[in-house]
Amino acid sequence: MTNYLIVVCGRCGGYLLAKDGQRTRTCPYCGAKVITAKTRRVAVVNDAEAASRLLRRYKAKERTKQDTLDFEEIFKKGHKSDA
Ligand SMILES: [Zn+2]
Repeated sequence: MTNYLIVVCGRCGGYLLAKDGQRTRTCPYCGAKVITAKTRRVAVVNDAEAASRLLRRYKAKERTKQDTLDFEEIFKKGHKSDA
């Protein structure tokens, strides 16, 4: 069974989907190389569909800024723009 991880890009704070066992992912937002073992995991699920649903939910949350407390540091460190 494959686990899917939802991880947070250390550079821009964007949410990424990675398969368990996948060591690196390139952030689709800022192009940073994300090492899945070392970055922050927000969720682990064993179903691809549930994973993409969760990812959408996290992204929506981020947009409404209701859950940004944990990410403020990340944003301060490396968030460049919303474009
Ligand atoms: Zn990024």
